[in-house]
Amino acid sequence: MHQDKEPGWQLPLINRPISNPMDWQPIDRLILLACLVLFAPVGFGSVLLVTNYQAPQYLNQSLVPILLWAYGLHAILLLTMIFAAFQRRAHDNHWPLFENIIIGGYLVVVIISSYLTGAHFSEGLLLIFLGVNITGVLANVNKIRKCYWVVVPVMLVMMAADFMHSVPYAILLEKSPFEPTGRPLIGWMILRAIIVLILAALIYLCILAMKRWTERESIYLEMSAIDGLTRLTNRNSFIHRGQQELVRARRQVTSFGSSLACIMIDLDHFKEINDTWGHHAGDEVLIVTSKIMMDNARQNDEVGRYGGEEFAILLPGTNLRIAEQIAERLRRKISETRVEVDGHVIEVTASFGVASFPGDGIESMSDLLKAADKALYQAKDKGRNTVVCAGEADDPQPTPPRDRQ
Ligand code: GH3
Ligand code: MG
Ligand code: MG
Repeated sequence: MHQDKEPGWQLPLINRPISNPMDWQPIDRLILLACLVLFAPVGFGSVLLVTNYQAPQYLNQSLVPILLWAYGLHAILLLTMIFAAFQRRAHDNHWPLFENIIIGGYLVVVIISSYLTGAHFSEGLLLIFLGVNITGVLANVNKIRKCYWVVVPVMLVMMAADFMHSVPYAILLEKSPFEPTGRPLIGWMILRAIIVLILAALIYLCILAMKRWTERESIYLEMSAIDGLTRLTNRNSFIHRGQQELVRARRQVTSFGSSLACIMIDLDHFKEINDTWGHHAGDEVLIVTSKIMMDNARQNDEVGRYGGEEFAILLPGTNLRIAEQIAERLRRKISETRVEVDGHVIEVTASFGVASFPGDGIESMSDLLKAADKALYQAKDKGRNTVVCAGEADDPQPTPPRDRQ
């Protein structure tokens, strides 16, 4: 089904709209993910560098060079791979190694940095949580599932270490990053501001992902239930609704005498319309007749496209006689309709079979459909453009068609 894409939002310097990243090619999504992950080593590394310059007494000097090197190497690795991915995207859409490095690198940098600063169960956990969400939609969700079984044991170990007095807590910090008044030091606040920026970007991407998910969900739902040409309920949904209505009717039939009717409709000599005026004219006839049925249905009725040029209408709370009158009204409306295609006027008629529950031998939806179908074939036998009710099968005097053949 064709789906109109939204124009998307526009970057000030790029003169074309940016679409939802969920619609991008896999490698482009990885590039975006890598750019976001790059925030982590660059941001954490810069804060560490500045803090070490301004207030080295707050930091464990034996760890600072190791961490600076690690952040630097991580950032260089990501930049190199982002550059290589740009070269690669012209001829390849997937790059699993890039994906592994992005995911693995992010987890390692967040877990280690947060553990060393004692933020592993606050900001660290939040970064991992949002990272999991966004990576699950931008990259391979199965890899995230595997990471879960690595990250959870690591967290349990960190949790156990927190309880052990022999294991030092927040070993990167020589002193508490809070003044005696309780106010955090400027470097600590900058670090948190960087985390806020990363989280804001990740949250926004999560919102875009959820938006796309819900849109796709409704498209798939519609595709599985609606006929693309006529916009009527398709055969499967129609039968499903019928089964539900039959259960309801069976439950109510004893107390309120409720009934359920079904009308089967088949356009007459439709093949001739296709053969004479072309397939597109046949399609137009199907659309117009569907509209007549929809316009004449009550809110609670279900109008379905049962097959090629066969339709079915489910009428809850309607007995056989009322359903026959409705079918007769529809038959007349269709036979009076003139469909105009390419300047030609096409006349259409349809045959109708009506059945209802409770009825002779009708126990299930399939029985109801069979009875209506049988009546429809009797209508065809009678010469078409007519309505036949189930039970009239043994009518010894077939009535002639009412309008024309
Ligand atoms: P009858 O009066 O006995 O029902 O004859 P008929 O010609 O209507 O029935 P038949 O089963 O011989 O032909 C049905 C035709 O409907 C054949 C098929 O090509 C056409 N058809 C089925 N689906 C579509 C569709 O979506 N669009 C168009 N244009 N034609 C379709
Ligand atoms: Mg037909
Ligand atoms: Mg048919």
